[in-house]
Amino acid sequence: MKETILAKYGEIILKGGNRPRFEWMLIDNIKSALKNVSKCRVTIRQATIYVDGFDEDKIDLIVERMSLIFGITSVTKAAVCEKELPVIFRTAKEYLKDDLSAPCRFKVEAKRADKTFAMNSTELSIALGGELDDAFPEIVCDVHNPEKTVKCEIRENGAYIYILQNRTEGQGGMPIGSGSKATLLLSGGIDSPVAGHMISKRGVTIDAVNFFSFPYTSDRAKEKVIELAKILARYTSKLNLYIVPFTKIQLEIRDNCPEEYMTLIMRRFMMRISEKLARKNHSKALITGESVGQVASQTLAALDVTNAVIDMPVLQPLIGMDKIEVIHRAEEIGTYDTSILPYEDCCTVFTPKHPKVNPKRSDVERVESVLDTAALEEEALAGVELIEVYPD
Ligand code: ATP
Ligand code: MG
Repeated sequence: MKETILAKYGEIILKGGNRPRFEWMLIDNIKSALKNVSKCRVTIRQATIYVDGFDEDKIDLIVERMSLIFGITSVTKAAVCEKELPVIFRTAKEYLKDDLSAPCRFKVEAKRADKTFAMNSTELSIALGGELDDAFPEIVCDVHNPEKTVKCEIRENGAYIYILQNRTEGQGGMPIGSGSKATLLLSGGIDSPVAGHMISKRGVTIDAVNFFSFPYTSDRAKEKVIELAKILARYTSKLNLYIVPFTKIQLEIRDNCPEEYMTLIMRRFMMRISEKLARKNHSKALITGESVGQVASQTLAALDVTNAVIDMPVLQPLIGMDKIEVIHRAEEIGTYDTSILPYEDCCTVFTPKHPKVNPKRSDVERVESVLDTAALEEEALAGVELIEVYPD
């Protein structure tokens, strides 16, 4: 018996005349995600993705990797056989025996995409349902409230049999590459990895930038950021991580600016430096992880002061989310456990006791003007380290 993989995709179907372009992107992304897993053939027909020709022992790993690819809504293993009724019966009984040996309510949902097949969908559902009912004495047919739905799809190139409830949910979203590029300000915290995941889910390629304050923050803090980038790369295949040396800037701010403005001025440096890096790398926007009111530097006045220094869209996908929702997302995408490791971030080391809650642009500009911002930024940019991050 031959087992294969089918996957469905979501929003691309709405793309009308552009749909083939998105489908090609999705095929490319699947191939590159599976490159190091197994050889395989990936095709799309009638809004379904078929993967076959892979090493049989890799099937579960392939399903797992595919469920992380943006654009795919579900992935399932299926038995495939000839479109002959006796073969279909035999294959279904053999393939489903583990699932149907214990008591359960079931139904068959057949679909005849190939209209040359002799029976219509209803006739096939009834025939296969009867056959399974006879073969497995423990199961009962219940078309209204089944626990297991046996799918039997008669397609161009064969009959596909699987249990609907066994499929793996995908990420949804749009294929990476369909939405140009943005640069994620990636700290070691809970929020920014989630923000990056949300934007890349919309098809946007992401680069990441981290501001690092050696020796105030340790090598372990850097490894934590690399680990977070690795987890994000499970979804994006690869990620360029730029590490910007930030210590000198922080010390200059600490020594020359009022303490209450420290975080705000630091954030303005981060934004300006990220914009320059982004432009150099053809990114069209920055991504950050703020949500309104979460901390003093995330009041609307503070966001105004921070975002005022750049001339590029700042995507803040968490802006209206509660912390608890962000934590749930972080758990779902697998970044939470790494984010809560206790290594300090560059901002936590230099946190003012009483940060300015309602800052004004003019005040911040005045206190910042004692610094040679251009020279400091240039020096930081000259020291940037690029790490190419791949998933484990
Ligand atoms: P996070 O959980 O993402 O660290 P946060 O709640 O700690 O967010 P802030 O410290 O105010 O919030 O930072 C706001 C945003 O600024 C972060 O979400 C992130 O995008 C960016 N940021 C903060 N620190 C750094 C850093 N060291 N390197 C890169 N980006 C940073
Ligand atoms: Mg943080």
